[in-house]
Amino acid sequence: MNYHIATLGCQMNEYDSGLLARLLESSGCKAAASPESADLIIFNTCSIREKAEETAMARISQFKPLKHKNPNLKVIVVGCMAKNKGREIIKKLPFVDYVIGPDSYKEIPEIILKQKARERVFIDFDEDENYQGEFAKLQTPYSTSITIQRGCNKRCSYCIVPFVRGIEKCKDAIDILAEIQEAVDKGVSEVMLLGQTVNAYKKDGETFASLLEKVSTINGVKRIRFISPHPKHYNDELLDVLLSNSKICHHVHLPLQSGSDAMLKKMRRQYTADQFLSIVEALRSKDPFYAITTDIISGFVGETEEDFEKTLDLVRHTHFDNAFMYIYSARKGTESFKEIESLSEAEKLSRHQELVVIQNEITKQKNEAMYGRIEELLMERPSTKDPDEWVGKTGNFKKVVFKPNTIVRPGDYVTCKINDIRGWTLRGTVVGD
Ligand code: SF4
Repeated sequence: MNYHIATLGCQMNEYDSGLLARLLESSGCKAAASPESADLIIFNTCSIREKAEETAMARISQFKPLKHKNPNLKVIVVGCMAKNKGREIIKKLPFVDYVIGPDSYKEIPEIILKQKARERVFIDFDEDENYQGEFAKLQTPYSTSITIQRGCNKRCSYCIVPFVRGIEKCKDAIDILAEIQEAVDKGVSEVMLLGQTVNAYKKDGETFASLLEKVSTINGVKRIRFISPHPKHYNDELLDVLLSNSKICHHVHLPLQSGSDAMLKKMRRQYTADQFLSIVEALRSKDPFYAITTDIISGFVGETEEDFEKTLDLVRHTHFDNAFMYIYSARKGTESFKEIESLSEAEKLSRHQELVVIQNEITKQKNEAMYGRIEELLMERPSTKDPDEWVGKTGNFKKVVFKPNTIVRPGDYVTCKINDIRGWTLRGTVVGD
């Protein structure tokens, strides 16, 4: 059987698609060259916003003609929307054969290959299922992401994740290290550890800090990254490791959401603006180029002009390297959905635009500050604009475009001096041979 997997959403969905690919291949399936030549199409979906679900439904419906051409084709919807919408997906798109939630992926080979299932919807939570012992197919030959923690124990009032992903479940360190070792044996040198609150990782006495140390002892691992940490779970042990272990990259994506304590409380974020700032200061105290990116919501329920000003002040003070900035939109099924919004769409948009202007200027300044620095780049791919040029990434997560003077491949490391900035793009020239 030939399979095709289409993935929407975050890196955890990308990882899960790799997990599904490996499960299918160990049952004898092969990757199809295209959806048209597949006997099995799996659509891995995201639920974070209603728009993401609408996009997923539209994309899935595009597979309907393939089902007409090949009545033996099986179409399965998995991921967060599978859990959130369940049977409703089959009602709206009857050509979908199965809907399978994030805790039931191991069922798929049996359902498909033995054709035994009469039931078409498998979306129950399983509090013990963390895919222990299962490794994902590599996403790239040089870098891999590994989910070390599934689900989330927080209850941020705007977020649907805990309702579709369930409670937090951490993988055994021994299993994580074995998966990384296997990836390194295949040529990977960059590892990204994934979890909804990845730095809350805790299993059998292992902490996130001690896990990072163990990952760094694997020969062949050169760069370690992680996403998404939660500000509540920074402590001295973790900060020490982050700042002393040379393999851990000096970039973190640390979601702020708001600079107002009143809003943070309403969002149930479990930290204050000052606590957030103390993490930023600790990270940048040893390395002023420690890159910090973030997520910010404008126009949350009840956000006053004063609350919003506090966010702007914090943004000006922190100098984030970059930010994903969102206009608040109530997500059905979450706590804050029940609250009556105090701002019009126009007011929310206006605040968002003001924030974007300020942050874009800061991002520009942060890029300009990289001018003249000598950086080691991990090669990703040739440039789309000029195939003679390559794109590589610095340890602090900046993309740099340059013209190599020898043949390079994805996964190589090249040292460059950053000596030009065009728009948002850093450019460099090779240092040495
Ligand atoms: S920490 Fe909050 S925002 Fe992040 S996944 Fe958990 S509930 Fe959602």
